[in-house]
Amino acid sequence: MPLLDPVFIVDNVLVCQCEDVDMRAMVLRHPGEPLSLVDRPDPRPCNGEVLVRVSACGVCRTDLHVVDGELPHAKLPIVPGHEVVGHIEAVGPDTQALSVGMRVGIPWLGQTCGQCRYCREGRENLCDRPLFTGYTRDGGYATHVLADPSFTFRLPDSGDNVAAAPLLCAGLIGWRSLRMAGDGKRIGLYGFGAAAHIVAQIACWQGRDVFAFTRAGDAAGQDFARRLGARWAGASEDRPHEPLDCAIIYAPVGALVPAALKVVRKGGRVVCAGIHMSDIPSFPYNLLWEERQVISVANLTRADGLEFFEIVPKVGIRTETTTYPLARANDALSDLRNGRLTGAAVLIP
Ligand SMILES: [Zn+2]
Ligand SMILES: [Zn+2]
Repeated sequence: MPLLDPVFIVDNVLVCQCEDVDMRAMVLRHPGEPLSLVDRPDPRPCNGEVLVRVSACGVCRTDLHVVDGELPHAKLPIVPGHEVVGHIEAVGPDTQALSVGMRVGIPWLGQTCGQCRYCREGRENLCDRPLFTGYTRDGGYATHVLADPSFTFRLPDSGDNVAAAPLLCAGLIGWRSLRMAGDGKRIGLYGFGAAAHIVAQIACWQGRDVFAFTRAGDAAGQDFARRLGARWAGASEDRPHEPLDCAIIYAPVGALVPAALKVVRKGGRVVCAGIHMSDIPSFPYNLLWEERQVISVANLTRADGLEFFEIVPKVGIRTETTTYPLARANDALSDLRNGRLTGAAVLIP
């Protein structure tokens, strides 16, 4: 991507010299259908918006839920994608915080109302009137995306864009779920994909023992977990020799809730970190008895992001990625769906 100088002003909008923006996007028209590649008119940032030229966009399991119609009230047509890394290409009027050329990341939380009780109580992840990138506002499966600069993270000027993309959701939600799990030493991670492979690195850095649970027979996934420092890796139905203090479930499989309750100690906690899960089967009360807890984690706050991006360089997080050209987004989604990926899929426009 060329450096973005000089800049000039058109209709009060600060734009770079590569003014002839030619936007392409992968668009979902109806749930259940493949995405189609479309050309779009030049996007122009309005008041309080920035235009970002996308360098890389991660593919998250939530995108699958959007594409499959498992999440209600998606904006349609929608451009999915909420793990966006790129550079500011134009800045709308009344937008001071970010300027042309900056390297930024755009996460799932696209905007909040700032007024509801959750926003006022510092729990903006639960806002009553939020916008979510790639779900209720257009996201990063595109060459360009418009974003609210208040919900855009400034990234270091240089860095590997592909490696950074999964940090924007797998990393961020992973970090929030890890905090919600408490500070127990022995932590189980169910579903060793994009989020778990980042969280495992943080947990090891914190001096915890990581227990990785994968689909039965997924030897490659279990090896991957051990390579990242997991002390134990096995199938979801397996039971490690010692009870765990807490567990986080990233796979969208409700049956993992009772499975995880079986392996946590008295007073232990099971965190459900996905936005969607198949039904949780009924289970005997004694699995919950003795003050075990089951909680869910929803979305992220900007404070989570600031905290997380501070620890990324301290931990030295390395992400494992498989890249796809933007036009092959459907293949990336299908590989994620079928568990044919190690680490995270990333689209490059
Ligand atoms: Zn709100
Ligand atoms: Zn996500």
